[in-house]
Amino acid sequence: MLCWFRNRRRRRLRAQPLPRAWWEAIDRHAPAVACLTPEERRRLGEIVRVLLDEKYFEGCQGLEVTDEMRVVIAAQAALPVLNRPGWDYPGLRSILIYPTAYRVRTRDEEGPAGIVTEENEVRLGEAWAEGSLVLSWEDILEDGANPDDGWNTIIHEFAHLIDGYSGDIDGLPPLAGADTKAWSGIVNEAYERHTKEVDAGRPTLIDAYGATDPAEFFAVVTELFFERPLVMRDEHPDLYEQFALFYAQDPAARCERT
Ligand SMILES: [Zn+2]
Repeated sequence: MLCWFRNRRRRRLRAQPLPRAWWEAIDRHAPAVACLTPEERRRLGEIVRVLLDEKYFEGCQGLEVTDEMRVVIAAQAALPVLNRPGWDYPGLRSILIYPTAYRVRTRDEEGPAGIVTEENEVRLGEAWAEGSLVLSWEDILEDGANPDDGWNTIIHEFAHLIDGYSGDIDGLPPLAGADTKAWSGIVNEAYERHTKEVDAGRPTLIDAYGATDPAEFFAVVTELFFERPLVMRDEHPDLYEQFALFYAQDPAARCERT
């Protein structure tokens, strides 16, 4: 019954096109969305409406959340799931927005003899399996102003959520219906090569942070796939093809058309 109500509510929401001011905010701060066709923009707008309705956006450290913030975040969250109905972050309840990169105190209790180490870390964003996701508005603005650097905090964090649909955030996302063998072979090989290059101190197109572990590799490659698809397709054609199949979209072809 709940499902029926939700579907009816969603149908009503989807029928409402986004106001022009929202599209202006998206075009200003979310360049990865710029190449979409009018039909894709319409569908993106539908997902944005649903995310704004069903997710709770909360400002932290006194930040007042504006429509612009909510819309810019929702539009970039919607991009990876544009052609994957049902992947619209069902387990996510709230998005916490900090004004700038935030400090967290992490506790590591796994040291020898029960020693607890604590450290202060600066974080730009993080995804929690429990249903909330943390972002820094300052970094979102910086990402929007630098579309060619391949960095996109929002896409990165939401990619972790998609990765987690298979049960764990481990770099192996749900591959139902896809060629798991091809994915594992190509993605694992690219990850191994990437870690070797990073260890050797060589410059890489894929951000060095991707060498942290397979989960970060998946998130970092997703950022590159949506931010610099043409360059990624040139340099890593096999990897690009796997991501295009996985996300069911071809952003490089889209960029060439515009
Ligand atoms: Zn990450």
